[in-house]
Amino acid sequence: MLCQSQYAVITFGGIMWRALFAILVIYSCHVEGGSFRRSGGRQEPQLNLDEYPSYEDIMKYLKDLARLNRNRIHLRDGGRSYENRKLQMAVISNGDGRPNKRAIFIDAALHAREWLCPITALYVIQQLVVNYQENSYLLDDYDWVVLPLANPDGYEYSRNVDDYWRNTRSPNNEHCYGTDLNRNFNYSWIMESSDLKDPCSENFAGSGPFSEPETRTVRDIMLELVESNRGLMYLSLHSANRSIYYPWRDYGERTNNKAEHEEIAKHAADRIYWSTGTRMSTMPGYFYHGMVGGISLDYAFKVGFPVAFIFEMSGKDQNGVEHKFFPPSSAIRGLVQESWLGIRSLAEKAIEKYPPSRPLWPRAKPKSKFWNWNW
Ligand SMILES: [Zn+2]
Repeated sequence: MLCQSQYAVITFGGIMWRALFAILVIYSCHVEGGSFRRSGGRQEPQLNLDEYPSYEDIMKYLKDLARLNRNRIHLRDGGRSYENRKLQMAVISNGDGRPNKRAIFIDAALHAREWLCPITALYVIQQLVVNYQENSYLLDDYDWVVLPLANPDGYEYSRNVDDYWRNTRSPNNEHCYGTDLNRNFNYSWIMESSDLKDPCSENFAGSGPFSEPETRTVRDIMLELVESNRGLMYLSLHSANRSIYYPWRDYGERTNNKAEHEEIAKHAADRIYWSTGTRMSTMPGYFYHGMVGGISLDYAFKVGFPVAFIFEMSGKDQNGVEHKFFPPSSAIRGLVQESWLGIRSLAEKAIEKYPPSRPLWPRAKPKSKFWNWNW
């Protein structure tokens, strides 16, 4: 209101005075807006936890949040999906300007139909940026990189055409579409499974490792973080099997820090159980529905993240009814918040295990079998 009245005054002056006054008014409005925001009264963009966001909703939320919190979140363009949608990443820091902090990297919705995942990733971003006071300890020495919608084409197809759609929308042959992004990474790609070679299978692993632009985006950010010695923890959000699992998924071999992985996962599972009563199982990936190759988890660990997890959210509502991928709107908020508790606990424990004084190297040694340097 003050700005409007000031503007009324300047209409009475001469041209030059008007111009000068206008500059002063704009400046004073800006400063006033700044102090108003600092007092905590500004309107942050609303994150609606009562419905599943569309691709456009997700892009808009990120844009609005970044515009209002320039010192703590910036958006990074991770390229385009097959159908030319943005692979937008949020890079979150505490705004102290210190470069080269270690980083936690989260992706969500490699599988299109796992609708809870993108909104959970947005909630993680919101908690770190808007609820910063409460969560600042997670950002003192660590940045977070979040890709909330890793498979936007598949997600929109699942929302609008075929809800059980899991893959991308790139064509495989005349009749069949879609690659399973979580089989397309270059670690034990395909293995011996014929199903993964079938272009009409839901598990099609792609025409080659990293044949899909979406997996190349995830790969590139992984490599960038590891090569700059920043990659601390990789976390991939999936639903809805109530599990936290860790490498390896391809064979039953133990990693050299298996006990550490289990301790971190158990910490998060316990926190969730004490808070909501949901039981999350923890295990090496191999023991989770059998061996699978080409997944992001194993690739992240192979290239050098010392800890890596797949977080399988719960799809049960408040009454214990299982909805798998599509819990009703009324259940979204509880499941998202439950998962945030788990994600925050994973980060807490990983940070405790890897304080800045502890080198990230030597990292876990990968196996020689199926090791392929062409990445
Ligand atoms: Zn999944």
